[in-house]
Amino acid sequence: MTAPGPAAADTPVFQAAGCAVHTEPYGPHAYLVTVDGPRGEEAVLRAAGWRHTMLTDLVRKQHLAWGDGEVTIRVPDDRAAWLMAFVPPAEVSVFDFAPTALLRTPGTEPVRARFPVVDVHAHLTMDPAPVAERLRVMAELNVAAVVTAAFADRGETSADSARLARQAPGRLLPAATVDWSLARRPGGARRMAEALEADVRAHRAVLIGEMHDKGFGVDDFGVGPVPEDPLFLDDPRLDPFWEAASALALPVIAHCGDELAAYRPWDADNEALVRLYRTPWARRRPGGEGHEEIHRRRDRVLRRFPGLVMIAAHLDGTGERLDDLAERLRRVPNLYVELGARHAVLARQPRHAARFLDRWRDRVVFGGDRVQDRETYREQFRVLESDDDAFALRDGRGRWPAYGLGLPDEVLRAVYGETAARILPAAAQALATAAAVRGTASRDVPDAGTPDAVRKAEG
Ligand SMILES: [Zn+2]
Repeated sequence: MTAPGPAAADTPVFQAAGCAVHTEPYGPHAYLVTVDGPRGEEAVLRAAGWRHTMLTDLVRKQHLAWGDGEVTIRVPDDRAAWLMAFVPPAEVSVFDFAPTALLRTPGTEPVRARFPVVDVHAHLTMDPAPVAERLRVMAELNVAAVVTAAFADRGETSADSARLARQAPGRLLPAATVDWSLARRPGGARRMAEALEADVRAHRAVLIGEMHDKGFGVDDFGVGPVPEDPLFLDDPRLDPFWEAASALALPVIAHCGDELAAYRPWDADNEALVRLYRTPWARRRPGGEGHEEIHRRRDRVLRRFPGLVMIAAHLDGTGERLDDLAERLRRVPNLYVELGARHAVLARQPRHAARFLDRWRDRVVFGGDRVQDRETYREQFRVLESDDDAFALRDGRGRWPAYGLGLPDEVLRAVYGETAARILPAAAQALATAAAVRGTASRDVPDAGTPDAVRKAEG
């Protein structure tokens, strides 16, 4: 981009030899320039220093192109020339540009999910509130069960998840946290397998993870120093561990790679530029494997261990290319996907996403991430259930308005809970109990930002 012109408050100085030139303000960022000279003759108008000025001949209704700070105009036969000079405002940084949409359409926000939900992706060890408060949120929102996973990189273990889950058996389900570094030692994967068996016996673990691969192997979270000896998913040293997971029928929740925009140059062409700058864990460190390679390794493991089930977190980092994701699901039958923190990506493509979820409802499960508040759950429900137009999401993923998918009941039932219950038998019980107490299941409230909907609800 070229350097901006002088501040818009300064009136630009236009000159044309042999002519009287008069300049006056003409609304925001515009000036009316009157050039009076020999009628029917050409004149050369100069505007020193005004590199961004656009000029329109108001009489001939033509835009004029500046060349080197000057432009040739023509004075009409019967009067002075009238020109409009447009001087763009001082540049607005893309980091500051946050326009408020003036569009107002009717909207509904579900207070609770229309059908009971199994949330397979949460990290409730991060929740400062007592478990009782989490259970209140779940009851309010119709979330029947939540799988909670601890973080090895925060020094947490399976026991931390189990401690929480014991306070709400059947509703909070613990995941097993794995010490992947063991695999680098002789006999280590065997010890990992034993630890897993113990997690199931002692802690009733229902899932493994969350494991990450951000291009530097399974025990790297994509932040901090680059690991010196990366351990990749398909490393044969891990085979005994995958065998044990298959035998125990414990699915793995795996965060493989990041969103596509993170792998593209961070420039004016990048649709997620601002968010990438603000999200340190989306930063790609040099030297890591790319999106394709990370997924190829993961799929290789799933082909080698057909009894192993993996749940790809966050739409497998491929939410912007649902056709590619569908192809992966077709090729790898033991791969499932989870929606956590990607409802904004679905809401950008409501019809395509609804078709995708309809087709793959028996391979898609519901998830959140971290410790979800009521509003985030309700945003997810609104995206999946409503047919609302152009609403704003707090998530802010991308700069597109959200559109409801309006999923039919049978797709909602599957994605909310039934598919998860098939791969997590412990969740099936919670789902059955929640389904039995349905009846008061859901009630819609108007969108506070849409006055028409409020009036309709009050009337
Ligand atoms: Zn997570």
